[in-house]
Amino acid sequence: MIKIGIPRALLYYQYYPSWKTFFEELGAELVLSPPTTQATLSSGSARVVAETCLPVKVFLGHVLSLVEECDYVFIPAIRSVKRKVYNCSKFLGLPDMTKAVIPESPPILDIDIDINTGKRELYQAIYKLGRRFTWNPFKVRRASIAAWQAHLKYRHLMSSHKLTAPQALERISGSTGVESKINPSHPTSAQATIALIGHPYLLYDEHVNHRLIHRLEQAHNRVLTPEMLTTEELESAIARLVGKAYWTYEEEVVGAGEHYLKSGVNGIIGIMTFGCGPDSLMMDMVQRQAARLRVPAFMSLTLEEHTAEAGIVTRLEAFLDMIHRKKRRQVKACA
Ligand code: SF4
Repeated sequence: MIKIGIPRALLYYQYYPSWKTFFEELGAELVLSPPTTQATLSSGSARVVAETCLPVKVFLGHVLSLVEECDYVFIPAIRSVKRKVYNCSKFLGLPDMTKAVIPESPPILDIDIDINTGKRELYQAIYKLGRRFTWNPFKVRRASIAAWQAHLKYRHLMSSHKLTAPQALERISGSTGVESKINPSHPTSAQATIALIGHPYLLYDEHVNHRLIHRLEQAHNRVLTPEMLTTEELESAIARLVGKAYWTYEEEVVGAGEHYLKSGVNGIIGIMTFGCGPDSLMMDMVQRQAARLRVPAFMSLTLEEHTAEAGIVTRLEAFLDMIHRKKRRQVKACA
C-alpha cells in the first residue's frame, strides 16, 4: 500500500479529514507527522533564512520528520478556494520551497488549486492527482465527492457544536472525552468567555502557542475560535468591516474579530506571528475597531521562534485578571 505523509502543520488543521478521505478512498495509507516539538521547529528553522515566518519553519520541520516514513509527502499549492480571494503567497510556493530546502524529502505529491481558473481546471487537477493511484476516473470522482462531504461534515461539527479543530478531529476519529473539555451548552458556568482570533495553525499548535487554549480552559474560561462560526457569519462580518475580502485568511482574523467584538464576549486575544505582513495589517484593523467600539479587553500576542513561555503566561494572567475584575465589578453594580 502506498504511504502518503501529511505534515501536521499549516493547512492540515483545515483540510485533514478531506485529504484522509480522498487518499484512503484511492487505497493509500496516511502517515501523519507527530505533534510539533522543539526539535521539529529547530530542524525546520535550520533550513531557511531567519525572516521566514514561524508556521513555515514548523511545516518544514514536519516534512523532515516524515523523511523515510512514507513514499510521498502531500503538499498542495492552494492559491484560491473562493473567487478572487487569494491565499498567502507562502502557500503557493510550498511544494517548490520544500523541494529546494529539503532535497532528501520523499517525492512530493502536489496539486495546484485555483478556483479562479474554472471548475474544469479544478477537476483536471484533482484527476491528475488521483491518476497516481488509479486510471479509473469514476473512482477519482467518487473519492473527491467523499472528500468534499468529509470537509463539510468537519466544518459543520466545528460551527454547530462549537468545537475547536482538534476536538472535531477527535470526534471524527471516534475518540472520546471531547465534550469534557468544553461544554458549550453551559457557558454561564465559565469564569469568562474569551475569543481567540488567528490562523488555525497558530491557535491549535500547542508547541507554537505554549498551550494557550489549555491554559485558558484550566482557568475555567470558555474559549471560542473562528472555526466555531459559520461561513455566512464570517462573510457578513468581513463585509461590515472591510467590504470585500481579498485574502482567504481574512475570515480567521478580520471576520472572526469583527464578529466577536460585537458578540458580547468578555475578551479577545489576537494571535499572530513574527514575519507575517498580512497578519500585522489585519490585526491592526481589528484592534482599531476594538478601540472604536470601546472594547478594552483586546490583547494581541505575537509568537515567534524564541517566544518565552513565561512571557506568554504573565501576559495571559494579567489579561485574565483584568477581565475577571471587570466582571466582578459588574456583578456588584447589578447587586
Ligand atoms: S499568512 Fe502569514 S503566517 Fe501564514 S504562511 Fe503566510 S506569511 Fe506565514
